Amino acid sequence: MSDKYKKIASTLCEITSDLLNESDIKFNDISLSNIKLSNRIGSGLATYCKYDRRSSQYTITYGKKMIKSKLNQNELPFWLTYREILKYNYFDNDISIASVLSHTICHEFSHLVQQHVGWHKRGSVHNIRFYEILSYFHDSGIANEVKNKLIASCSLKNLSLDTEITKSNNSSIDLLNDESCFYLNDKISFEHKNKIYDGIVTKINKKTIIVTVPAMFRSSIWKIPKYRATKK
Ligand SMILES: [Zn+2]
Repeated sequence: MSDKYKKIASTLCEITSDLLNESDIKFNDISLSNIKLSNRIGSGLATYCKYDRRSSQYTITYGKKMIKSKLNQNELPFWLTYREILKYNYFDNDISIASVLSHTICHEFSHLVQQHVGWHKRGSVHNIRFYEILSYFHDSGIANEVKNKLIASCSLKNLSLDTEITKSNNSSIDLLNDESCFYLNDKISFEHKNKIYDGIVTKINKKTIIVTVPAMFRSSIWKIPKYRATKK
């Protein structure tokens, strides 16, 4: 895969670190400056924020294939981050690659804030309170700063953020949720009738996953749509 996607992913990592380190960033008067965060480049599509309780460490992963897919004008509209910009009028509805990638940084960073302020609910991550955080980053001008930085940094490195016209590999995409890229044996949780279940992914279909929920006597097997599952 082209080195370009890796370089753009690496730029996203740098900007995410700066967001935390260089600004005295706060949400609801809660300081975020003491948070331990490392950012990494993943090889697949999956882009997500993970929190390790034992080490109190956050890790944000930006998938290389996510960058490739968002640069592809045929696949870009299938991403949740693209749809969020239009749904909430972020960046004055500008859906350029620079906007979508900057919004990706804000989206993942909002998951970090969501966990840090205790607004994280297993099985339902993209909820009203999540969008309260995400909208704060847009309304306060932070998202625009992120976007300006991304444009400046990519231009300095000669990385073009223009759409690429490539044939889509996947003609049956429904919605690409940045976090909904599951692998076998992933630990996930999901909500059913107000109860949260924890399980392990045992099969991956196009739109659904098969999940085994262990129990004392007999495990149960569930088929759930990908968008309803949350990685643990
Ligand atoms: Zn998300």
